[in-house]
Amino acid sequence: MPRSSREPLPRLVRGSVAVQRRRCGKERCRCAKGELHEAAVLSYWDGESNRTLMLAPEDLAAVRRAVERYRRARAALEKQAEAGIARLARRRRTR
Ligand SMILES: [Zn+2]
Repeated sequence: MPRSSREPLPRLVRGSVAVQRRRCGKERCRCAKGELHEAAVLSYWDGESNRTLMLAPEDLAAVRRAVERYRRARAALEKQAEAGIARLARRRRTR
């Protein structure tokens, strides 16, 4: 399928990118001699269990950026929420 007709890459992705190395099981494959196949996956928590999603090599860089974007956005949100607690605490003290 041509790339242009595919779903566009997301701006935000929760999880982490990992490289898995594995044997495919074929006796004559190079992986049987120790040269393992590498596949990039997104590892994420779906609310019940850890899941993995295979990543196309051409999507890898964009997915890493989307994961980092999410991490930063979440950290910024946490910081604001902590400041919210501090502000509430100050209100209590000054009343
Ligand atoms: Zn193999």
